[in-house]
Amino acid sequence: MRTGCLTRRMCRNKMTIDTIVALSTPPGVAALAVIRLSGPESRAIIEQLAGPTVEWKPGHAVYRTLTYQQKTLDDVVLTFWRAPHSYTGEDTVEISCHGNPHIVESIIEACLSLGARAARPGEFTQRAFLNDKLSLTQAEGLLDLLYAPTERALASARAMKEGKLGHALEAVRAELIDLLSHLEASLDFAEEGIEPRVGPEFSARIEKVREKINQLLRTAPLGRILQEGVLAVIVGEPNVGKSSLLNALLREDRAIVAPTPGTTRDLIEAPCNVRGLPLRLIDTAGQRDSTDPVEIEGNRRARALLPNAQLLLHVVEAHQPYAAARIDLPENIPSLLIANKSDLGRHPSLPGETIFLCALTGEGLGDLEAKIESTLLADVPDETETVLTINARQNATLQRAAQSLDRASEALRGSTGLELISVELRDALHDLAEVIGETDNEDILTRLFQNFCIGK
Ligand code: GDP
Repeated sequence: MRTGCLTRRMCRNKMTIDTIVALSTPPGVAALAVIRLSGPESRAIIEQLAGPTVEWKPGHAVYRTLTYQQKTLDDVVLTFWRAPHSYTGEDTVEISCHGNPHIVESIIEACLSLGARAARPGEFTQRAFLNDKLSLTQAEGLLDLLYAPTERALASARAMKEGKLGHALEAVRAELIDLLSHLEASLDFAEEGIEPRVGPEFSARIEKVREKINQLLRTAPLGRILQEGVLAVIVGEPNVGKSSLLNALLREDRAIVAPTPGTTRDLIEAPCNVRGLPLRLIDTAGQRDSTDPVEIEGNRRARALLPNAQLLLHVVEAHQPYAAARIDLPENIPSLLIANKSDLGRHPSLPGETIFLCALTGEGLGDLEAKIESTLLADVPDETETVLTINARQNATLQRAAQSLDRASEALRGSTGLELISVELRDALHDLAEVIGETDNEDILTRLFQNFCIGK
């Protein structure tokens, strides 16, 4: 029996099936706003507002005037989705009204008075999950899809939302179940006095499963970059062109560029998209001895930030003799040496790996971006066709499954009893079920759905 069905059923039983309502578009003035109403009372509630002649065909839209207690609320378009053919799996109505916050509030208030309840963050998606409309990994993909900062992150989120991870894991799971039943059959023979045996073919099959999990685990570093972004800090002496580099990478005039040293005194942070990789780019105050308290504080903040950086962009002037940075750059953080103002010359003392740039004209920017990408993806295998990447939760659980399989392989090589191998395979299966969301880990569910916004 699939534990997932059990868990979802348990959750569903605990859940009072009421009707929920929320604004699903951003609050504020807009041309339109969409309010979602989902649950068994949706139809009764909307009919009290729109009249009893409402047609209830899935995906069918009608134009109606909503009135409540003899007051006109708005002229709206109602779209109906009948259970189970809706996003949530329940009867759902989407109310497209005019995007005035007072109108939105009055419609939501009317629904609440008629028995609906204000939805919690992610509750529509939670219902979709509980009604088997999407799996846990698909819900995670959906969340990533909403927040994906770059097109590359979007492609990865879409792959997750389409259930690619679930499909990959289903295949792994089927193989493990087969191995386990084979093993348990051997154990049954043992009870009848026949020596239990599993041959080299069995070990090879476990190795194969392990490799499939490994392939997924290898996507974790890229997943982390795409979902969390990379903290990239620009460091260097005053006036070398740090702010100009920030502006060049952003392709906009974000930071003030000036010929006077010490212009940037505070930290400037900007989200930046480098070849589809999301960066949190920070321009620091130039490192120099100063008596200006603001500059001293700027320097202190820059130093405090460095240990958290995931990439350092160390800027120097191309036409000047090379000297190491005046601040100690942490050695464990990847660092790129960028010689800016290459239009003024290239000094022979600069080391071989230097990237030459003219931030004013953008010459060398493409090379720099390519270098940033290859540095960040140094640990990511070149499996470019695999857009699917796993997240931190999936990574942690799959690591556990991989360890169980390693222990099973080790036990097979040694003389440990087959019972132990069976325990390890069961543990691995349990971990796979947890990745897909088929174990009763309420914590995971609560945490995930809380990250959604209200109305999703
Ligand atoms: P920061 O203090 O390190 O942030 O440096 P800025 O970006 O403010 O630049 C300092 C000065 O160098 C400004 O006058 C810029 O116009 C100039 N500058 C920046 N990049 C280049 C470049 O590639 N070539 C030349 N010739 N000047 C540059």
